[in-house]
Amino acid sequence: MTTTTSKIIIVGGGFGGLFTALELAGVGEATLINDEDHFLFKPMLYEYLSGEVEAWHIAPDCRELLDGKAGFVRGVVEAVDLDARSVRLANGRSMPYDVLVFAPGATTNFAGVPGAEQFALPFRALDDANHLRRRMTEVLDRIAPDAAPQDTREALTFVVVGGGASGVELSTKMADLLRDAVKRRALRGEPRVVVVEMADRLVPGMGEEIRKYVEDALEETRVEVHTNTRVVKVGADSITLDHNQRQTEMRTSGVVWVAGVRPSPLLETLNVERDRRGLIQVEPTLQLAGRPEVFALGDIALYPDVTPILAGTAQLAFQQSHLCAQNVRAFIEGRELKSKHFVELGEAVSLGTQHAAVLTGGKAIGGPLARQARFALYTARLPTWQHRLRVGASWFFEGTTPRPLQPLGF
Ligand SMILES: Cc1cc2nc3c(=O)[nH]c(=O)nc-3n(C[C@H](O)[C@H](O)[C@H](O)COP(=O)(O)OP(=O)(O)OC[C@H]3O[C@@H](n4cnc5c(N)ncnc54)[C@H](O)[C@@H]3O)c2cc1C
Repeated sequence: MTTTTSKIIIVGGGFGGLFTALELAGVGEATLINDEDHFLFKPMLYEYLSGEVEAWHIAPDCRELLDGKAGFVRGVVEAVDLDARSVRLANGRSMPYDVLVFAPGATTNFAGVPGAEQFALPFRALDDANHLRRRMTEVLDRIAPDAAPQDTREALTFVVVGGGASGVELSTKMADLLRDAVKRRALRGEPRVVVVEMADRLVPGMGEEIRKYVEDALEETRVEVHTNTRVVKVGADSITLDHNQRQTEMRTSGVVWVAGVRPSPLLETLNVERDRRGLIQVEPTLQLAGRPEVFALGDIALYPDVTPILAGTAQLAFQQSHLCAQNVRAFIEGRELKSKHFVELGEAVSLGTQHAAVLTGGKAIGGPLARQARFALYTARLPTWQHRLRVGASWFFEGTTPRPLQPLGF
């Protein structure tokens, strides 16, 4: 293998794949394959929902980011043949590789709950946020100006399933957006945003320093928290909950499912050993055992000694991409490969449209200042310095004010 002619295929243009591709630019014939034309900075999808950021800020075009230094193919990879060393795309095209970097990420896990896949909204992509925003606006548009407060509250009942960081960030954002819209439209009553969590507390893995800000934000935005509660069924306009073996049905205008993920279904086409959650066990070098030419990272990979809090996060995939690019290069050049101990880089949660909480270097801050700090922190983590510069300038000069839920047709 040579550094100029080796064919490197990277599957998945997310935190693992895109950042690996950017670092591998100029090494061999590297090609990134992604099913969307853009990368997505998922931690800011909540801000996209509220209009605090625009699509181009958090979802830059892959071709523009790679700038011709690596190839890009927009397509869905349908199967990987590890023996033949090739990937097959949904359009029938086969692409051979000398080295494969596998990073197709995860997808929503509806956990087999009846009706969940059909009726609940996922929240992982730009389109998911667009659908949710549209749903909230349509419901608001249907409320008569003289509706009684209890009718407004019933119409504006939304349920977020999953009380992890995603559930908290999403529910506080939705509550602020809906309350603002009720006020602007001079409606009587209040929205009702409910978070449902099976465990006995929200964000179980979160440190105590930051938890206080989370709890205050939930109270301030008047998000209703149901812990020790299991979702039994989701319907077109209802959700059935079980708490202490008592079932209740709640009418709702929308259920958003952020209760868990499972690895990309593409893994099912791979003939490799996986753990009970379906993750691929990788070597400390990110290689697959017995397949030194295959590297896997991000949400699909089970890496030795990663803490449960760090597993399945962008900060892990991002750190792994650096090791992956280094090791792919070393593998092609016949040099020794490295391993790494990955660390937590801190926490930053968005809390409604005006606040956030940030934990860095063991110190937590909250409120509007933390919201600014979160923007600054995330600007620094966007791909490529050119994109960081454009986005930073836009946030600095044009601001990050939320976009209200205007009536449709405006
Ligand atoms: C709403 C939300 C908020 C989050 N917030 C945070 C946070 O604040 N902090 C944090 O650390 N983590 C956060 N995460 C988790 C984080 O985004 C993931 O852990 C991270 O994206 C994993 O990186 P990855 O490269 O494995 O997968 P991804 O970034 O998901 O990238 C996978 C890519 O592969 C593409 N793909 C999938 N299948 C195929 C196929 N068959 N063919 C071609 N392309 C394919 C996908 O479209 C995607 O572009 C959040 C996740 C979500 C959904």
